[in-house]
Amino acid sequence: AKAAGRGVVEVFDDELRHELSVQAQTEEALRQALLGNELVLHYQPVLDLLTGRTASVEALVRWNRPGHGLVPPDAFIPAAERSDLICDLGRWALAAALTQLTQWDAAATAGAAGAGGPEGELAGLGVAVNISGRHLASRYLLDDVAAALATSGIDPVRLTLEITETVLVDVPSALDQLRALRELGVKIAIDDFGTGYTSIGQLPNLPVDILKIDRSFVSSPGAGHADLVRLVISAAHSFDLGVVAEGIEENDQLHRLVADSCDSGQGFLFARPTAPAELTIPRTCPATE
Ligand code: C2E
Ligand code: CA
Ligand code: CA
Ligand code: CA
Repeated sequence: AKAAGRGVVEVFDDELRHELSVQAQTEEALRQALLGNELVLHYQPVLDLLTGRTASVEALVRWNRPGHGLVPPDAFIPAAERSDLICDLGRWALAAALTQLTQWDAAATAGAAGAGGPEGELAGLGVAVNISGRHLASRYLLDDVAAALATSGIDPVRLTLEITETVLVDVPSALDQLRALRELGVKIAIDDFGTGYTSIGQLPNLPVDILKIDRSFVSSPGAGHADLVRLVISAAHSFDLGVVAEGIEENDQLHRLVADSCDSGQGFLFARPTAPAELTIPRTCPATE
């Protein structure tokens, strides 16, 4: 029995060793990817539902990994979040997104003769960058945001930082960090709202500007979700928060959100996240028509 017991421990050890080495390899590959420019940002338009125009884009990272194709973030962000690598990734994303805005601005100026072309619609856009809780908790984020703004010269009001709702609970210093970031002039959005434990009653005390209603509430009409969405939108408005609905895929979802006075929306109905070279700017009917 003793011998068998030791066998089990050895098997477990082997599995653990294997798992740790996979984790270490992924981390090392990601570190190289950051150095070797294998990470790219794709952009998804966010539309102002009142005017029907695209006002900003969300930056979403992909890993153009040799031999693996375009790897989605869910496959490597969790590995990056186990170490300070996620801070390096966040720093890179902030710089890359703001540099992209300067390029769109410059292309519009260069093409001003043919105003009204696609370049014109890319100028002046805002951008939202996803920030991990670990980066928010670190002493780096404030400097990273300030540095990216200074280097690019982009007006801070054009930058939104997206923090998931769970981070408000998991990071003890989150509220202080968010206050400091807002003093730089950037906006804060609570991502995936509705999936964590933030109650509507806490909203007036949160140093945030925007709520992003999670896709799960937008896509499934059942289980009182429609009422919940309406309630969240009206509560958010009474506290002067903007509301973005994520994951709009169908026209009737859009119409319901417009009827409920949702401010902004993004989703496959309008556009999928795309590489900057392929980005086209969608437009929908203004809510008043
Ligand atoms: P998220 O921030 O909630 O981003 C929205 C996700 O929903 C994106 O997935 C987007 O492609 C997807 N989406 C947008 N519209 C629709 C729709 O109509 N239907 C459906 N089914 N999906 C839609 P993606 O790009 O795979 O990103 C997944 C998650 O990875 C993000 O969720 C975010 O949490 C994380 N992530 C992405 N980029 C970054 C980054 O630069 N840094 C960090 N820390 N996390 C990132
Ligand atoms: Ca997001
Ligand atoms: Ca989200
Ligand atoms: Ca999410």
